[in-house]
Amino acid sequence: MGLIVQKFGGTSVANAERIRNVARIITETYQAGNDVVAVLSAQGDTTDDLLEKAAEINPRASKREMDMLLSTGEQVSISLCAMAIEALGFPVISLTGWQVGMKTNRNYGDARITRIDKERLAAELGQRKIVLVAGFQGINRFDDVTTLGRGGSDTSAVALAAVLHADLCQIYTDVDGVYTADPRLVSDAKKLDEITYDEMLELATLGAQVLHNRSVEMAKKYKVNLEVLSSFSGNPGTKVKEVVKTMEKSHISGVAKDKNIARLALVGLSNQPGVAFQVFSLLAREKINVDIILQSIGREDTKDISFTVARSDLERAREILERHAPALGFDRIEVNDHCAKVSIVGAGMINSPGVAATMFEALYDAGININMISTSEIKVSVLVEEKDADYAVQVIHNQFFQEFERRR
Ligand code: ASP
Ligand code: MG
Repeated sequence: MGLIVQKFGGTSVANAERIRNVARIITETYQAGNDVVAVLSAQGDTTDDLLEKAAEINPRASKREMDMLLSTGEQVSISLCAMAIEALGFPVISLTGWQVGMKTNRNYGDARITRIDKERLAAELGQRKIVLVAGFQGINRFDDVTTLGRGGSDTSAVALAAVLHADLCQIYTDVDGVYTADPRLVSDAKKLDEITYDEMLELATLGAQVLHNRSVEMAKKYKVNLEVLSSFSGNPGTKVKEVVKTMEKSHISGVAKDKNIARLALVGLSNQPGVAFQVFSLLAREKINVDIILQSIGREDTKDISFTVARSDLERAREILERHAPALGFDRIEVNDHCAKVSIVGAGMINSPGVAATMFEALYDAGININMISTSEIKVSVLVEEKDADYAVQVIHNQFFQEFERRR
């Protein structure tokens, strides 16, 4: 018994039958003696449909009006689900972001939560009501509606769990939990029983789409007990926490891929101090995120620097660098927008030499060429051609997890 925050994604509330299913999960949790706060996403593709509607009317609509529009999807879900719970005979109330005091900064479309005034929530919970909260939305200091960025309902749920000191935050979705690789790609991918915040954060950032990465960051910061599970299967999910029982684990927890990557190479830069600083501060000023960076060893008086950006930033990055070509002094820019990043993640690799070598061996055996490499304490990423990415995930997964099965 305790306080449980549950979050249901768009597919879990896509139609009347599924909303009734969610109402059942919520009320069963309540009947077991828990206080329940449930955060809902917009039904199915609602948010995408709303984006299309806006584009038909004004492709350059202001961000304020976009948020006004996009926030409506979640309001539909919570009211419908409240009706389903009323029909089951339980006390329930639905609340929008502003009604629960979800305060954000003013950054429309990608707002950050600054504070949650929890009086209203506490009062409703005090009366033993089930509280349904519209995900993905808040209110800024102008009393205007803001949204938290695509996938932001996860973050709404974790933020509520943090301020309410919830015993558990359950993220219900359409898969059974977090897998060692995308199960649609790797047939013997396994569901993880547990994973650390850091690993989950890397996986979420590297392209595994189960959780919004900001929600994981927040869960780690406030030590929120997270569980990712399916609203359809009833199976136990994946627990996300500080430490996990590493004894039974493979050195890695998962393999992820991200195709939203482009590589730029500045060839023939002058081999002077300060060049890298100039290049990357230009990009930073334009808020272009740079990921993997590689600088060649200088030959005579020139060197090359290559780096990756999100594909959507490629043209802007190229344009900025070309504009500053005279000052930077390079021969040419080479771009590759058909590459992909494949990564392995695992807290277990810190103390086990040879993990990167195992990954490279799998790629070598498969004849897949590596263009760039980057590592951190708990991940190794390689840049490969996009056409090789799926196969790379499969062979790397095989190498680690079949080996693991053999050792057991
Ligand atoms: N409905 C929003 C979206 O599709 C928020 C969410 O689902 O988390 O991005
Ligand atoms: Mg979503």
